Amino acid sequence: MNENQENNKPKRNPNPYRQNSQTGQNNHSNREQQREPRKEGQPREESGNREGNRKPNPNRKPNNPNRKPNPNRKPNPNQKNGERKPNNNRPQNKSGGNKNRGRRKQQPTNVSDEMKACLLENDQVQQARINPWKQIEMNSRGKIRFTPLGGLGEIGGNIAVMESENSAFIIDVGMSFPDETMHGVDILVPDFSYLHTIKDKIKGIVITHSHEDHIGAMPYLFKELKFPIYGTPLALAMIENKFNEHGLSADTKYFNFVTKRKQYEIGDFKVEWMHVTHSIVDSSALAVETPVGTIIHTADFKIDHTPIDGYTTDLHRFAHYGSKGVLCLFSDSTNSHNPGFTKSEKIVGGTFDRLFDLAEGRVIMSTFSSNVHRIYQAMERGIKHGRKICVIGRSMERNIETTRKLGYVDVDDKHFVEPHELGRYKDEEILVVTTGSQGEAMAALSRMATDEHRHIKLKPTDTIIISASAIPGNESSVSKLMNRLMKSGVTIRYREFADIHVSGHAAQEEQKLIIRLVQPKFFLPVHGEYNHIAAHAKTAAGCGVDARNMLLMSDGDQVEITPKFIKKVKAVKTGKRYIDNMNNKEIFSDVVEDRQKLATDGIVTVSMQLSTKTGKITGRPAISTFGIIANKEDKKFEKEIEHLIETYLLSAKIEGNVNTKKIEEDIRGAIRKHVVRIKKLYPVIMVNLFLTS
Ligand SMILES: [Zn+2]
Repeated sequence: MNENQENNKPKRNPNPYRQNSQTGQNNHSNREQQREPRKEGQPREESGNREGNRKPNPNRKPNNPNRKPNPNRKPNPNQKNGERKPNNNRPQNKSGGNKNRGRRKQQPTNVSDEMKACLLENDQVQQARINPWKQIEMNSRGKIRFTPLGGLGEIGGNIAVMESENSAFIIDVGMSFPDETMHGVDILVPDFSYLHTIKDKIKGIVITHSHEDHIGAMPYLFKELKFPIYGTPLALAMIENKFNEHGLSADTKYFNFVTKRKQYEIGDFKVEWMHVTHSIVDSSALAVETPVGTIIHTADFKIDHTPIDGYTTDLHRFAHYGSKGVLCLFSDSTNSHNPGFTKSEKIVGGTFDRLFDLAEGRVIMSTFSSNVHRIYQAMERGIKHGRKICVIGRSMERNIETTRKLGYVDVDDKHFVEPHELGRYKDEEILVVTTGSQGEAMAALSRMATDEHRHIKLKPTDTIIISASAIPGNESSVSKLMNRLMKSGVTIRYREFADIHVSGHAAQEEQKLIIRLVQPKFFLPVHGEYNHIAAHAKTAAGCGVDARNMLLMSDGDQVEITPKFIKKVKAVKTGKRYIDNMNNKEIFSDVVEDRQKLATDGIVTVSMQLSTKTGKITGRPAISTFGIIANKEDKKFEKEIEHLIETYLLSAKIEGNVNTKKIEEDIRGAIRKHVVRIKKLYPVIMVNLFLTS
């Protein structure tokens, strides 16, 4: 029972005006509580003597930056030149006692000039500490521009550009996923049009970490424009894998390996990579020294105090830049609706232990193939429980191989087995680590669920651990996967275990910590849809960032940042390009639009022969429809279309020189009108006219 519930208990003779002084839970202010009716044995408070009796108020906010010394506060007449005189009125506790005890009169606290000066000095120190950005040179004439080309108004597809007068660099080049209306499209990459317009200014690409939504579109950019790439080794290794797939192996010559806590000059900018914890190893935030002041970009982050590799978020570095004064902070808004702290990655290891204890047969664990620490924890616990590890799924195999090679994962070769060797082991000696936690149709787990996997046929004794949550947009495919897995009778361990998955993004208290460490003048919430960035702005306002110093941006908004102001100056072209993963080629938007039309409104095709001599149709036109008319109505519909064509030809009076294009267009128009009238559909209509003499 909590205090509120206690207060709600019915009481005898309830008096709505009476305050409950025991719990302090009432609607009145603390000051009013202090004036509570006197309790027994408590001396009556005398007027003019409040200062002396006042107890420290535990609810009083300390360090109010706006607090000024009270000019009305009178100096103590007993005090001169900062020296304190003995107060003759102060009751002395001499032997013999004090008869007036309990009713004694006390003098107000002495506030000397020295004390006043000290209060003032403390206020100034607090002001400077709480607003370190005030150290920034306000008269600098420079300006920079920041333009997100993806990742705002959406989750994923992150790409942004920072520009000075003469130079620019790109931050991340990510991909995103299509929605279900984009038929045959596997991934979306950003429209690079704006980059073409400023290509001569661009001095490099800065990569924060190797998630697909930060590097996935890299090969597609490199097929159009090439720039030096700066990143930590894992990010560049992951990009190398992509370049190899796309026949861009030679472009690894653009790689620049960076070390954290060092500055790299890129055009007019000095960029430092600062370590952050996230759901992939080796992630970084950026500290960028620009001509107008320092800018911090958190990229994706959380603040995990017990990360698997021991490398915590480099809070010291955030504080270092913060204390020098930061002009603008860009921060990750993905989880800005979540109160509290995101849990540590480490907690999932304990859950794996419990699940391995419960498992009777094989354990099949699925998570994001990039979450190396999650995979590592599962492998480590599996080994502890006497299991061999079998890795299935192309991206999972490749990521484990890369991270083992680079030394991020330390698991001995002897613990791994190939899928075809699984038959040699008992079920309770097997841990399969696999892809497909998002219900992707082509991934290994989906194939197992539909009994299409070559090596793994599911059994009722199998335990399937899905250590992930559905990314927005993937909910229905995950749900479908669940249905299939459940039908096969396996034991599924998913969300009902609270700590089976933890997020890689900061919740509100972590967002606040970064804002307080950096305490910037300007704040731009990034990485999220509008509702996420709006929630993050609210959090920042609560942490002392002036509401006028924040902007909520959308993709393509270009903002200008100077020491004095931040404002949107223009909008640049943005958008998405559609990619077919089977051949890594672009599907042009008109093709996707046709597919959408075909899917929702169907198609009508008409082929016919026209005699130029008679101006009449030879034979009957061949009419087919798909997705418009039920089979049983086909004949009736064909008749209607034939009739339309005949009527048209009669009125058109075709003789001599025949304009085929015009006739086709006219017939198409007549059919369109008819279908709209009878079906309210706008199908694709194809009319082919062949001329005979
Ligand atoms: Zn990420």
